[in-house]
Amino acid sequence: MTAATTRAAAKNRGTHTLGRSQDELQDLVRHAGAELELAPAENIIEWAVATFGERFCVTSSMGDAVLADIAAKVAPGIDVVFLDTGYHFIETIGTRDAVEATLPVNLITITPKQTVAEQDATHGKDLFARDPDKCCALRKVQPLEDALADYDAWATGLRRAETHNRVIAPVIGWDAKKGKVKVSPLARWSDEDVERYVVENGVLVNPLQYDGYPSIGCWPCTRRVAEGEDARSGRWAGTGKTECGIHA
Ligand code: SF4
Repeated sequence: MTAATTRAAAKNRGTHTLGRSQDELQDLVRHAGAELELAPAENIIEWAVATFGERFCVTSSMGDAVLADIAAKVAPGIDVVFLDTGYHFIETIGTRDAVEATLPVNLITITPKQTVAEQDATHGKDLFARDPDKCCALRKVQPLEDALADYDAWATGLRRAETHNRVIAPVIGWDAKKGKVKVSPLARWSDEDVERYVVENGVLVNPLQYDGYPSIGCWPCTRRVAEGEDARSGRWAGTGKTECGIHA
């Protein structure tokens, strides 16, 4: 499917070209949240596509293509947003390219305002080592907020089983910071559920997953984890930081 075709398919999915008010969006969360809590991921994405049309997108960090695969089956041509921080492993960029080449999605790569070199010049070299919160704010949080400006709702692959910080993540939640509906179709999925879906559907997986990186972020802030260690313990290891701020 060409980029033009995927965009056309995306436009044809719905007529919700105008954004809803914050009150209307929060009402939707209240009503749909409980109703969809136990629904299969496919049905959750179907609801989001029917409700928000082209004002709904899926985000992917390219650890795997599970969410993008489900979304592509439900709504071919759907927008899949990938945030290229400039610090990704080459395997992550390769997974992004493979997703774009093989799935019928409209892959949108977004980038921070400054390149890594420009950030080094403005804030000093290797900001991630001195102030990772600021680095994440500049290279992750702000670019995603900017990219979501034209959407009312966004889907994330966040799962409750990933870390104790996420055990209460709702399937349909209100992202007060962004003023958007946050949809987490995989919230209830276990690691085994993900593995089963990958095998049964031949889904693309970032090769680093098979090389000791169960959770993959920027290379300066991600290390291998040992067998039995918490999957996210390799992220910002030794700093006390556990989240980049996107899911705060
Ligand atoms: S994960 Fe590390 S390198 Fe990436 S944006 Fe955050 S601090 Fe910067």
